[in-house]
Amino acid sequence: MYCEVIVDVAHSDVDKIFDYACDERIVAGMRVAVPFGNRVTTGFVMRVKSSTDCPPEKLKRVLRAEDDFPAINEECLALTEKIAMRYRCPKALVLRLFLPSEMRTGKVGAAYRTFAKITGDISLISPRAKQQLALAEFLKDNGEADTAFLNERFGSALKPLVEKGIVSLEKRRVFRDPYRGMAGENAEHLLTEEQQRAVRSIEETEKTVTLIHGVTGSGKTEIYLTLIARQLALGKTAIFLVPEISLTPQMLSQLRARFGSSAAILHSGLSAGERFDEWRRLREGAARIAIGARSAIFAPVENIGVIVIDEEHDGSYSSETSPRYNTFDIALLRAKYNGCKLVLGSATPAVETYRRAQQGEFSLVTLKNRINRRPMPQVEIVDLRREVRRGNPSPFSLALRDKLSACLESGNQAILFLNRRGYSQTVICRDCGYVAKCEHCDVALTYHSEEDCLKCHYCGTKYHMLSACPSCGGTHLSYVGTGTQKVVGELKKLYPKARILRMDNDTTSGKEGHLKILKQFSDREADILVGTQMVAKGHDFPLVTLVGILDADMSLHFPDYRSRERTFQLITQVAGRSGRSKDRGEVVLQTYDPENFILRFACDYDYEGFYEYEINLRAATAFPPFAKIVRVMVTGSEEREALDALREVYTKLEKVYADNADSFLFFNKMHAPIKRIQNKFRYQVLMRIVDGKPLKEIYAICAETNYKNTLVYVEENPSNLS
Ligand code: ADP
Ligand code: ZN
Repeated sequence: MYCEVIVDVAHSDVDKIFDYACDERIVAGMRVAVPFGNRVTTGFVMRVKSSTDCPPEKLKRVLRAEDDFPAINEECLALTEKIAMRYRCPKALVLRLFLPSEMRTGKVGAAYRTFAKITGDISLISPRAKQQLALAEFLKDNGEADTAFLNERFGSALKPLVEKGIVSLEKRRVFRDPYRGMAGENAEHLLTEEQQRAVRSIEETEKTVTLIHGVTGSGKTEIYLTLIARQLALGKTAIFLVPEISLTPQMLSQLRARFGSSAAILHSGLSAGERFDEWRRLREGAARIAIGARSAIFAPVENIGVIVIDEEHDGSYSSETSPRYNTFDIALLRAKYNGCKLVLGSATPAVETYRRAQQGEFSLVTLKNRINRRPMPQVEIVDLRREVRRGNPSPFSLALRDKLSACLESGNQAILFLNRRGYSQTVICRDCGYVAKCEHCDVALTYHSEEDCLKCHYCGTKYHMLSACPSCGGTHLSYVGTGTQKVVGELKKLYPKARILRMDNDTTSGKEGHLKILKQFSDREADILVGTQMVAKGHDFPLVTLVGILDADMSLHFPDYRSRERTFQLITQVAGRSGRSKDRGEVVLQTYDPENFILRFACDYDYEGFYEYEINLRAATAFPPFAKIVRVMVTGSEEREALDALREVYTKLEKVYADNADSFLFFNKMHAPIKRIQNKFRYQVLMRIVDGKPLKEIYAICAETNYKNTLVYVEENPSNLS
């Protein structure tokens, strides 16, 4: 027997098939150890065959199988080649995506525990051995028990019982369950007519992809769960992607309640062991629904019945490490392979997605009403310039204060949202204009009052607070901007009795950080939740009747073609947290630019209006989807090497540009907006192209540019242009 192997080395030089001899225990999809050059490396068996062209004196043998099962299933093997071609990366990099990363490094394996049960005659125990009798009694009542537990509870009583043959032990494989005891109640609803129509339409359309455009609270989740349950009943499996599963405990408990252990949850907050076990349960078919963030699209399920991407517009669906895949592309490949439906859902679809639905490529389902026709919250725009003129320098307008007081008095809860974190944005010297910056990243530092220090939000480095300006020696240092921490401080002064929670990257460290804060808030242990982007995600807090957006235009001023779209999405999402239950919700939107079109559309919940405005602007200025932004990034720890690489890449790209001038709208090389992150120098060649012709060459140029300590890669429509 022979097999074709891809070695697990991420380099284009070895990105080809190597033949090895093997025995019949080796099957396609297995990970194997093979001799390669003068070392032993892991490889993936792509195919098994009965003959080889490799001359016998060169042919080596597979040393052993790394696992006792094929880690990669047939479908994933088949897709590897396609994905590698699409993203022009070595196949080994794609194959790695299909495995829990801990498995590759060999740091994690199955967990075993030993269980004890009675198999002998209890009456043989001496009446004086009180502990042994108690243990036997316990086992009689409980059937069997974990030995670790028994040893803790009954001291050393177990060993003699085993020696006398009264108790016997059995070692068994166990699965580590990350969400034991998490299941809430199963709130399965009778579908409304609108929801039933949506389910029928998705199942009946001949199009693979359906976009559900439904306002917040229109019951999209219930539609997804129904679609999934119906496929499970047919014996199929499902993948359900949510941008930040670890942020939404309600979603987790709902899924556990509904699907029990057939749901496996994959996300980065799990321990290595838990993640491995959830993956194993899917691979073995013990679990049939994979739930998780973007990487769960690579879940090892077979015979997929439906794939759901919730909040499809979310930026986290693009990978920022190689291969820089787009989750939708992979989902579409898997849906086509399995002949199943792919469902995208959002209250604020990405402009590109909505256009594809408008043009008939996707089927479109629109849900205009909230469940039970609950009204959308009323939005009031507050002009912050007037507040300044009025002499109100606090982060809260008078209108917001009035509403907040009323909300607290009525015993409801409020959420205050702002775009930043930390105490204040930056520290500036008022004498010379010096701005405190990170030594490794070239970005402004943020002041944190609790620790009285400056922190870099890109690399996490902490600095002592400055007492004088390092540049001019002046002592007039001042803080610019408002952060979550400062807002909480001001709130405490205004509402000394209110219980306030803060949620941002600083307060949510640790595996359960988010869950703890969200649980406290939903258990009514606080009246006001202050937070950044995280509070905008799909939470369902029935008592929240007021949402305050403190600085609505902050995100409008990012130098990025998506900033208008992002602002619209963010405002709609945050506003959607208000008034989800009996009482009508309110939203106060504070801005320095009250006439802004985007803010107006958001306040009126007018997605179509926003879309028309935005798509016309994109067409007029030739931005995606009417053109493609291509960025070649050159990053490196040594400035000289990075610059050499940039020079080589740039010279070659310039030639592509000259040869295909018609395809280009823009071509330029420059520092990336942030010149240094984590001590890596960053350069970019930025291009805007109207057709895909030059792409192949651009990728090829990047792949062949090899400099020490330097990374060269291509990004298409990057979701983050920093
Ligand atoms: P979306 O995902 O569109 O924002 P959700 O699925 O969270 O909306 O639904 C909003 C609220 O309506 C939730 O509290 C949910 O439990 C409830 N809900 C959903 N479908 C129904 C239904 N058919 N009948 C009653 N309540 C429902
Ligand atoms: Zn830094």
